[in-house]
Amino acid sequence: MMAEKLDGKQVAAEIREEVGEQVKQFVASGAPAPCLAAVLVGEDPASQVYVRNKARACEKAGIEGRTHRLPADAGQKQLLELVNQLNADPTVNGILVQLPLPSGQDYDEREILDAVDPLKDVDAFSPVNVGLLMQGRPRFLPCTPHGIVQLLHRAKISCSGKKVCVVGRSDIVGKPMAMMLAQKSGSCGPDVANATVTLAHSRTADLAATCRDADILIAAVGRPEMITADMIKPGAVVIDVGINRVGDKLVGDVDYAGACEVASAITPVPGGVGPLTIAMLLHNTLMAAKLQSAS
Ligand code: NDP
Repeated sequence: MMAEKLDGKQVAAEIREEVGEQVKQFVASGAPAPCLAAVLVGEDPASQVYVRNKARACEKAGIEGRTHRLPADAGQKQLLELVNQLNADPTVNGILVQLPLPSGQDYDEREILDAVDPLKDVDAFSPVNVGLLMQGRPRFLPCTPHGIVQLLHRAKISCSGKKVCVVGRSDIVGKPMAMMLAQKSGSCGPDVANATVTLAHSRTADLAATCRDADILIAAVGRPEMITADMIKPGAVVIDVGINRVGDKLVGDVDYAGACEVASAITPVPGGVGPLTIAMLLHNTLMAAKLQSAS
C-alpha cells in the first residue's frame, strides 16, 4: 500500500483564501480590518520566525498584524501590564502571547495566559474557552487541532464510530484534539466527531498495541520518528503533528517512509499540519472581530 499524502499546505491555502474573502466582506460592511496583536518576549529565533510568519499571513488575509516586543528580562509584571493594555484596547481583536516564554526568567506562563480576555483569546488557551469546548459549545477552537479537523473534513475522512488514538496529552494539541473528536458534533459536523478516542501518553502501557488498534492515529509527542510502521494498523489514517529539528532537517513524530507502506493516508512534515495552524489563527481572529463588533 502506498499512502495518500494529505496536503496540509494546500488545504491551508484554501482556508486562508476563504478567510481573506470573509475579511473583505466584513470590512465592506463598514467594520475596521480585524487586528491581531502578537506579544514576543525575548529573542528566541524560532519564536521570531513564527511571529513574523503569522504577521505576514495576517497581512495577506487583510488582517492587521501588530507585534509587541519585550526584552527577555521584562518580567511578569510588565508582561501582564501589556496583556491588560491589549485587553482594554478596542482596536485589538485577538491577542497571542508567543510561547515559550524565556526560560530562567521566572515567568508564570499560566498567569499570563489566564490574563488574556477570553473574547480575544484566539489561541483558545483561556480556561473559559477550554471549558466551553469541553461542554461541546465552543467559542474559539484551538488552532492546531481545529486545523486537523478541517483537513480530515476536506479529505472526506470520517471519524464517526472510528477508533482514534491521540498520542500526547498537552493542553495545546493532544487534550483538545481528543475532546473535539469525542464530541457529538464539531465545526465540520458530526462526521469529524463521534469518535471513540484513546488519549495515550508516556505512561501508556504497550503504546504500540494501543496505536495499532486505531483507525486514525494522531501523533503529537515531539519525538522524532518514534511512531514506526509496526505501530500502525494497515489502512489507518496517520496525522503527524510533530515538528522536530534533526540536524538541518525537519521531521515528524512518525517514520514517514515506513508509515507510507502501511497507512492509507498520511500528513507529511513539513507541509502537513503546520500550515493549518496559522490558517486557523486567522479564522479565529476574524471570528473575534465579529464577536466584538456584535457585542
Ligand atoms: P508537549 O511536550 O507539551 O507534550 C508531549 C506529549 O507527548 C506529552 O503528553 C507526553 O506525555 C507525550 N510523550 C512524550 N514521550 C512519549 C512517549 N515516549 N510515549 C508516549 N507519549 C509520550 O508537546 P506539544 O503537544 O506541545 O507538541 C508535540 C509536538 O507537536 C512537538 O513536536 C511540537 O513541535 C509539535 N507541534 C506542532 C504544531 C503544529 O503547528 N504543527 C503546533 C504545536 C505543537 P506525558 O504527558 O506523560 O509527559
